[in-house]
Amino acid sequence: MADARSGASSRATTSAASGKSVPAMELRAVKRSFSEGENELQILNDVNFAIHPGEMVALVAPSGTGKSTLLHIAGLLEHPDEGEVLIGGVNCADLGDDARTRIRRSDVGFVYQFHHLLPEFTALENVMVPQMINGLGRKDAAARAQQLLDYMRMGNRSSHRPSELSGGEQQRVAVARAVANAPRLLLLDEPTGNLDPTTANYVFDALQALVRASGVATLFATHNMELAGRMDRCITLSGGKVLPVEL
Ligand code: ADP
Ligand code: MG
Repeated sequence: MADARSGASSRATTSAASGKSVPAMELRAVKRSFSEGENELQILNDVNFAIHPGEMVALVAPSGTGKSTLLHIAGLLEHPDEGEVLIGGVNCADLGDDARTRIRRSDVGFVYQFHHLLPEFTALENVMVPQMINGLGRKDAAARAQQLLDYMRMGNRSSHRPSELSGGEQQRVAVARAVANAPRLLLLDEPTGNLDPTTANYVFDALQALVRASGVATLFATHNMELAGRMDRCITLSGGKVLPVEL
């Protein structure tokens, strides 16, 4: 998968000065609260967390503890009340909306529990669209889309529409689409939550191979402890803070 790897090798940059790898994403002193009636719910309360190129991190925590909120802030979809988000070393707290949107489009991929694929388009076209929005020509976008679908073991389903695919197959297309523009950071919000265990494992196998080949930093929110145990490390949210978990 030469394309994805070449995208990744430029991602896995090291700081010339320190020789240390620059985090793909870093949260510094992030706070976020929501008001519920009279009460203020402090969902994220001084979150400090970094994820490095090529790392796969599981985020395991009960419903309602703030997993989706954390992913949305990390992926620049929401602003924190306080604190900073850095993507590839760029402090996004200092940026205007246009610059944040540009970084989100080029550097962040999202996968959700439900795939949100475009129903009128084939699997191949769904993976081509984000690349063409980014300015790539149709032929190059199609070649890379086919390569990514091959990687997700979906190469023989590229001309199917989403309604002609199973849930696991749809999620494998959604992963291929999320990494189509070779992002630094891949955020997955319970992507296997709607799949049976065997299918979830199969989707995960393909995802893991893709992550290993591309070097994308991956933060994967899940309730599936078996999958969490297969990742490089695991974190949880407790009292609004990110804590490491030993599995
Ligand atoms: P999780 O993904 O772990 O289930 P969420 O991040 O979705 O948790 O939500 C954490 C808490 O924040 C929940 O209590 C939820 O109701 C609340 N919350 C999330 N988003 C909003 C919002 N936009 N407005 C008000 N409350 C919200
Ligand atoms: Mg959630």
